[in-house]
Amino acid sequence: MTTPLTHKDAEFEKTVSALFQQALAENRPYNLPSIRKIKDWHDEEITRVMAIGYTFVVEGLKRLGYSTPDDVENFNETALRAAKGMGDLVIPLDLIKKSIEEALNTAFPKRNTDSMICVAPIRVYGLCPHHLLPIENDVSVAYVPHQDDGKCLGLSKLSRVVSWLAARPVLQEQMTADIVDVLYKGDAPHHLGLPQLSSRGAACTVSARHMCMACRGTKHPESFGHTEELRGLFKTDAALRSEYTTLAIKRLP
Ligand SMILES: [Zn+2]
Repeated sequence: MTTPLTHKDAEFEKTVSALFQQALAENRPYNLPSIRKIKDWHDEEITRVMAIGYTFVVEGLKRLGYSTPDDVENFNETALRAAKGMGDLVIPLDLIKKSIEEALNTAFPKRNTDSMICVAPIRVYGLCPHHLLPIENDVSVAYVPHQDDGKCLGLSKLSRVVSWLAARPVLQEQMTADIVDVLYKGDAPHHLGLPQLSSRGAACTVSARHMCMACRGTKHPESFGHTEELRGLFKTDAALRSEYTTLAIKRLP
């Protein structure tokens, strides 16, 4: 009988690490030219490291019995595809910071309005940091600009900020707080050191389906995780909160 593996199994960690270092040193199994085709932010070196990691996953699948000639053919480029797929689900943190800085720099003055600005729902995908499986998020965001010298973000910028902050290995609770804190400058700096919009209040509500709960673990595909963060006026003004509920939350699953 084999001993069950745990992440605390030092011998196992050592073996995998040695195999990984060896694969990295030999630059196998993928040649760089095919990786150079990757567009967008994808970094060759990072993708190569991830692809080497995924070769171990493919090797594990083969040892489960999926090693017929058909399987081997299907797995031919799988590790590289999986690495690129991961690169589609997440954005480097530096790039998120830069993009949010640029978006907030485009905020424009809007006079004589103190009404709520809301976008809902915004469907965005992220990654569970515990299981590396996708999360489907439906997000509502709202904020209230200052009446006299208030700055407003374009509606599309608002939805982009949400997409960027979702494209990370991040817990839903933290993502909700990170989004609302970009739209409301409170006493404390942003958790990620991001710039913050000066507003009278902000709200973010997220309803998310986690693949790690839907397909594995508890196997409850019908369950959604609900999180909400309120700042400023949204905490103190019941009428505003009620308006937000009507506009935004009812649009979520
Ligand atoms: Zn998970």
